[in-house]
Amino acid sequence: MSEESKLRDLICLLAKSMFDRGLTGGSTGNISARTADGGLLVSPTGTSFGRLDPARLSRFDAQGVHVGGDKPTKEMPLHSAFYDTRSTAGAVVHLHSCHSVALSMMPDVDADSFLPPLTPYGIMKLGRVKLLPFFLPGDPAMGDAVRGLAGKRSAVMLANHGPVVAGKDIEAACNAIEELEDTARLALLTRGMSPQMLTDAQVRALVTKFDVEWDG
Ligand code: ZN
Repeated sequence: MSEESKLRDLICLLAKSMFDRGLTGGSTGNISARTADGGLLVSPTGTSFGRLDPARLSRFDAQGVHVGGDKPTKEMPLHSAFYDTRSTAGAVVHLHSCHSVALSMMPDVDADSFLPPLTPYGIMKLGRVKLLPFFLPGDPAMGDAVRGLAGKRSAVMLANHGPVVAGKDIEAACNAIEELEDTARLALLTRGMSPQMLTDAQVRALVTKFDVEWDG
């Protein structure tokens, strides 16, 4: 089996796994990954994470020209913004995941550091997560907002909509976005209960030890 066939299968397998666990429902969510030739594979518009077809993923060449498969997601500008500003991005995932969307609606959330420092992996896998304002779905301004971060964040939260996370490869991106949703769920579960968060010194130690992008 070719490298590209394996990547196509892996994209669909990971998307189905997230769908099956309720991380994004219906035909929501979109996913993309870099191919070895510098192109992209992207989930088609209107498709469900539960039923992606490896043979019908949208295929772009290294110049960004659509060369095969179905029409891509309308949230393509969001994906392009990460690839264009982060040279390390090998994959991008976007979900409509319940707990992180709920957390984005809370009035006292910190827009510059959307997730509270509850667990080490939330920090190690995501760095600081930026909360972006609400945009109409498919609005190219979403991509502009990501470009405005100049590649300094690997994860953003679109208010009242869902998270978007870039990773070095498809597994890293999926693992990170699952960590985002889990941390948001913990934040909601412990909300109003004065949970013991990680201290500034503990966060700093994690950032240093695991070389986390934190200060951008
Ligand atoms: Zn969306």
